[in-house]
Amino acid sequence: MSLSTLIQTPYIRYEQPLGLFINNEFVKGVEGKTFQTINPTTEKVITSVHEGTEKDVDIAVKAARAAFEGEWHSVTPSERGRLLVKLADLIERDSETLAAIEALDNGKTVAMAKIDVEAAAGCLRYYGGWADKIHGQTIDTNNETLSYTRHEAIGVCGQIIPWNFPIMMWAWKIGPAVAAGNTVVLKTAEQTPLSGLYAAKLIAEAGFPPGVVNIISGFGRTAGAAISSHMDIDKVAFTGSTMVGRLILQAAAKSNLKKVTLELGGKSPNIVFDDADIDNAISWANFGIFYTHGQICCAGSRLLVQEGIYDKFVARFKERAAQNKLGDPFNPQTFQGPQVSRLQFNRVMEYIDSGKKDGAQLALGGHRYGKEGYFIQPTVFTGVDPTMRIAKEEIFGPVVAIIKFKDEAEAIKIGNDSNYGLAAGIHTQNVNTAIRVSNALQAGTVWINNYNMISYQAPFGGFKESGIGRELGSYALENYTQIKTVHYRLGGALF
Ligand code: ADP
Repeated sequence: MSLSTLIQTPYIRYEQPLGLFINNEFVKGVEGKTFQTINPTTEKVITSVHEGTEKDVDIAVKAARAAFEGEWHSVTPSERGRLLVKLADLIERDSETLAAIEALDNGKTVAMAKIDVEAAAGCLRYYGGWADKIHGQTIDTNNETLSYTRHEAIGVCGQIIPWNFPIMMWAWKIGPAVAAGNTVVLKTAEQTPLSGLYAAKLIAEAGFPPGVVNIISGFGRTAGAAISSHMDIDKVAFTGSTMVGRLILQAAAKSNLKKVTLELGGKSPNIVFDDADIDNAISWANFGIFYTHGQICCAGSRLLVQEGIYDKFVARFKERAAQNKLGDPFNPQTFQGPQVSRLQFNRVMEYIDSGKKDGAQLALGGHRYGKEGYFIQPTVFTGVDPTMRIAKEEIFGPVVAIIKFKDEAEAIKIGNDSNYGLAAGIHTQNVNTAIRVSNALQAGTVWINNYNMISYQAPFGGFKESGIGRELGSYALENYTQIKTVHYRLGGALF
């Protein structure tokens, strides 16, 4: 199979790289394997890409190690920043193509994909700005000693990303790692390999030295596992399910104790108080769960509504959700495209069945939409008991569980009754309620009178089983640097 192919999207015809990206070149996998990627809107094959396995990960790690110890080492921090800014510019230049690739490969709407691509470019530019502003401290220890710290790059970083935000996750991972002077071996998700490969081409065009960023298309159990257990990878960053997060942590512990950061699942409470501005709360609750078809780790999948506003809110929320337009992601009017894969479609439908069996009321949706593609109607369950599976487990689809609560204390209790702690939302016009409740919620992000608004300048990550460490903002740089303390003795011998 060749190393690139022409792809026609409804928008754009473009040249799609298909190889693994190692040392700034596209290559075939050592084992000569390939795998197909499916268009979730049509269920048809888009193309096949070359598959990386353990041996390819090894080659990529050697390239990343050679770059780290070689050419990359002599590149100044400001030059690293300039390269990241250049990469951001190239992503913006090709934003139409990248957005079309996302819509084709992932099924998200082209309108939302454009926002992802802009955010990816913005994130890389933001970290480009940080590259020459990472520094340590001088510390007064005693008069005979000069003590200072250096924030040094960790080395070769393995990065494993999911399929729900392919290009954005690519940028969130590469930006801080490269800004801090590391080199990277990144594995894209097997469902969505295309945008990461297209953007890899831009790495070479931006002028990064070979080996600084390497991109592997491949599966979790092979290429992913090879990254997490590799003896010459110094750090692994993972975004995905909590189940796989545990495997990554185990593999790191069993191999070389590589540093680990994890951004995992959630079952986030979105809490609407009686005094909320009902129009705004409905709009944000709708966006909170149905954005990217519910395929976002911080989705507001538990909608907690206070009893005084409950009936009115539920009636109007259902009307609002019923208006979300499903269909072709390339149609500018579409709000909701298909789920990413047959497997995800089946998982979500199984949860809908469990909600019905457990006695929740199906107030809206609950069925497949259309005859082709992995579309699921926006689905609303009311009368949900917090002990039901649909109120406890991450569904990762357009399914919301509405739970009634009496007062603030009960909202906090139900909100925190989860192994997860990724995010939460609060809708109220009372500032004191907002601050009190946000302080009490066990969540890495709290949105007050909004939802799902993530900025690359501010940290993102989870409490409890939703993860370890923070991505984005200056906080992410802590994951990609290690601190060295130097004590320089001014005086002579001790004895
Ligand atoms: P999902 O179930 O939503 O696909 P996963 O957590 O399985 O989420 O996948 C997220 C990423 O983790 C993907 O890139 C996938 O290939 C990778 N992955 C899956 N299993 C493993 C594993 N055992 N080791 C390392 N990476 C894995």
